[in-house]
Amino acid sequence: MTIHRQKNIGVLTSGGDAQGMNAAVRAVVRTALDQNTDVYAIYEGYQGMVDGGERIRKMSWDSVGGILQQGGTIIGTARSADFRTREGRLRAARNLLERDIDSLVIIGGDGSLTGANTFRQEWSGLLQELLESGQVSAEQVRRHPHLTIAGLVGSIDNDMQGTDTTIGADSALQQITRAIDAISSTAASHQRSFVVEVMGRHCGYLALMGAIATGADWVLIPESPPDVDNWEEKMCEILKAGRDAGRRDTIVVVAEGAQDRYGNHISSNYVKQVLEERLGEDTRVTILGHVQRGGAPSAFDRYMSTLLGYSAVMEILSGHMTGEAFLIGMQNNRITRLPLMECVEQTHAVAEAIATHDYDRAMNLRGSDFKESFQILRTFVRALPHTAPPGQKPLRLGVLNAGGPAPGMNTAVRAAVRLGMDKGHIMLGIHDGFQGLIEGNIEKLEWMSVAGWTTTGGSELGTNRKIPQGRDLYAIARQIEQFDIQGLLMIGGWTGYQAMHRLYTERDNFSAFNIPLICLPASINNNLPGSEISIGTDTALNSIVEAVDKIKQSAVASRRCFVVEVMGRYCGYLSLMSGLATGAERVYLPEEGVSLKDMQIDLERMVTGFKRGKRLGLVIRNEGVNPVYTTSFMSALFEEEGGDLFDVRQAILGHLQQGGNPTPYDRIQATRLAARCIGYLIKEATRDLPGGAFIGLQSGQVIFSNLEDMPRMMDYAHSRPKEQWWLALRSIAKVMAQPAPHAELDQDY
Ligand code: ADP
Repeated sequence: MTIHRQKNIGVLTSGGDAQGMNAAVRAVVRTALDQNTDVYAIYEGYQGMVDGGERIRKMSWDSVGGILQQGGTIIGTARSADFRTREGRLRAARNLLERDIDSLVIIGGDGSLTGANTFRQEWSGLLQELLESGQVSAEQVRRHPHLTIAGLVGSIDNDMQGTDTTIGADSALQQITRAIDAISSTAASHQRSFVVEVMGRHCGYLALMGAIATGADWVLIPESPPDVDNWEEKMCEILKAGRDAGRRDTIVVVAEGAQDRYGNHISSNYVKQVLEERLGEDTRVTILGHVQRGGAPSAFDRYMSTLLGYSAVMEILSGHMTGEAFLIGMQNNRITRLPLMECVEQTHAVAEAIATHDYDRAMNLRGSDFKESFQILRTFVRALPHTAPPGQKPLRLGVLNAGGPAPGMNTAVRAAVRLGMDKGHIMLGIHDGFQGLIEGNIEKLEWMSVAGWTTTGGSELGTNRKIPQGRDLYAIARQIEQFDIQGLLMIGGWTGYQAMHRLYTERDNFSAFNIPLICLPASINNNLPGSEISIGTDTALNSIVEAVDKIKQSAVASRRCFVVEVMGRYCGYLSLMSGLATGAERVYLPEEGVSLKDMQIDLERMVTGFKRGKRLGLVIRNEGVNPVYTTSFMSALFEEEGGDLFDVRQAILGHLQQGGNPTPYDRIQATRLAARCIGYLIKEATRDLPGGAFIGLQSGQVIFSNLEDMPRMMDYAHSRPKEQWWLALRSIAKVMAQPAPHAELDQDY
């Protein structure tokens, strides 16, 4: 029997739609049910709250089934003029009270969240009025003295302060990146110029990150307009120099709200006119428009929104914030709770700074990552590097890929080469990993020789899993001396880390290894020390999610269970996160292992589910979970035991996970980390005993760890770090995957 709490939760989506809103709604509903709380979806945003009736519907476990992969919002969104009036809000309050709802999860932009706060502030006054007019009872008013608001930011623009990222921004950036990649190839074929306009009226996030991710040649954003009056001339000069240096296309990315430093709007058509008139370029304009909101949500938007929805409900139920309005966001890769209106005010402060032409303030409010990214872009768009300051002796820095291929390796190499050269240094590309270093397969890379490397998957330099041993070390020492390599950047995975550690520990035997050494994490497995995320992981995750979406669609007609095997070796990151992002019922992780008893329990659950009318089952199995209970074994077991009730198919995703063009997230992080690695090599080269390190992202910050500490941080037997932050998300995945016994189920489950 279900025990009902007296206080219920409502959830609505409002303002512009964004990919990932469905994942948030699903998480809110399932978490509330798991916590024995009734939950209502309010359809069509605030208008549904004002209208009541059928627009406020009690949700069951299944009413949010199968929505994770859908863009937009299944509960609808709208702009509501009624809710802007007190009369409208009075009706909304009555409708909520009728259903004992006094906590709301609002998923929307700053307008929607401001509206929610007004409603919260008025709540007791509204209830008093309803009581006096006899529309509600004293008992109802007594039961619900406060309205609690949890705000989640749904906005593709990433324009809210207080959260690093908003629901939909990552998916929109993926759409933009795909579009610009496609435009680049046609532009290059015809040697054309393109002006691409992206969304963002007060926020240049999509434009800036889209430009970095695609290697675009110029960007115009509202927060940092060109700093000179004759910006058209300066832009054309640099673009022309790029053409002269051999670039075949020109891409200028313009944010919708771009302006000059006096606040005059810069339209994409104006930029086209400038390019045509001053450079004589055949120029086309592409306004990406609503395509940016379209399509299935990215893996990140699915799991982040799931975490946000889960946290919103848990915060409401904890009772700490009763009667308050708070924002659940993500900062530094962790879920945060902040006072809602402070975040809204800061967001307005950015818009105000732009409006009053205080661009330094606008950029400062955006934060250091944003500023750093803008700076990096300014370097990248140059046609040629700055020349070294007089008297500076250029360093000769080697860069190589090692380990399995990871999307984003090329992006990191390109960034390292350009940023190193721009500081006046010579960049040497080492082919085929450590094997190439042993053999002296090394060439000097030029500014234009890495053009176009931002977007491609795989490894242009070549990579392999060679770990140098014995005589190899002599050969490497000789090559380092012969090519006069004064610093080494390894962009790669676990075997690359081992190789670099080997060089570091052999310094006493080989003086040639006394050069700065740095590792940049690039591996789809996400099993590297010192970094919560490695480059390539996000791309692999998106590839898995896309493949599973297709696999799920293939099963519309029959009752079927899929056992999907994903990579990761002995690290379960890809399995857990893809499970969260695809709505798998069960995820098998190497960190937990699997026993016959586990499989028996899972099988029983599956049988019960299918008996109730469930049509699709999804199990994700990491490749290294158990050598005996293989994917084939599991599939055969489930098939046999499932009898006539359901059939089972296995899908081993294989190498598609290592391929593909890198996602914008991987490109941006690869760029950011490469910039820091080059800085490290340059700094350490001045020291008598240069350091050896591996770089990483930890809680959103770039952190350097000493190579000496690597053994302490690694579980060598399983080639994975001893500490893995994401394991804490397992409990959330479980809540989303299986209804608790008390959660109400529809007949068609
Ligand atoms: P976004 O949430 O994406 O910023 P809007 O600003 O259009 O989008 O807001 C969406 C809806 O939220 C509005 O149509 C209105 O119903 C409600 N809303 C916005 N601002 C307020 C406000 N100040 N007071 C009451 N309701 C508001």
